[in-house]
Amino acid sequence: MYDVKGNIRQVLDSLPEGVRLVAISKYHPKEYIEAAYAEGQRIFGESHEQELRQKVDELPKDIRWHFIGHLQTNKVKYIAPYITMIEAVDSLKLLREIDKQAAKNGRVIDVLLELHIAEEETKYGLTPDALRELLKGGEWRSLEHVRICGLMMMASYVDDMEQIRSEFRLARSLFDEVKADYFADADYFCERSWGMSHDYLIACQEGSTMVRIGTTIFGPRIY
Ligand SMILES: *Cc1c(COP(=O)(O)O)cnc(C)c1O
Repeated sequence: MYDVKGNIRQVLDSLPEGVRLVAISKYHPKEYIEAAYAEGQRIFGESHEQELRQKVDELPKDIRWHFIGHLQTNKVKYIAPYITMIEAVDSLKLLREIDKQAAKNGRVIDVLLELHIAEEETKYGLTPDALRELLKGGEWRSLEHVRICGLMMMASYVDDMEQIRSEFRLARSLFDEVKADYFADADYFCERSWGMSHDYLIACQEGSTMVRIGTTIFGPRIY
């Protein structure tokens, strides 16, 4: 097996105070998760509902699962009973569905809003203006079963570290803007989920509170 224990120890040692690790275990077998768990890791991220459900059934109950991928509205009901955080919310429609399913389960579900800053073409994530529009609209305030805890983003997948850094900085400035405008009194709005295997050290320098790391810990994914 890949040296999961050694790798996760190294990653944890490299994180500054105040930055938490979400170990991204998608496509990796449960033995890998158990190895990380044995090192004390409790937060894991997955991006497919069925794979996640199977792992939830087989693994210790004190694991806190984050859903990190694009989530279809028709899948929300399956994860609503147990998910700790849904990281990549990029529409009001999805937010409404999470609220509805959380209510059915008598829960409040923590979510992050996903920003789209990277230059890559992707359908997912809110542009800065779309983020402002969503919050200005105000409907989210009436959704009592979701709690917006911060922002999530992925930087461009490039070698140019200065470009990556500038994208993290833009995300940070949007976080500060939104915090001041809508969440100044909300202590729970405090999460900045950015940084992956190839850029997490920069992300830490640029204000991340939560890094999402897969490959560095578990090795390459076999799809
Ligand atoms: C897969 C994935 C990660 C982890 O990527 P690595 O490069 O393996 O660290 C982080 N965030 C999201 C949203 C992902 O889908």
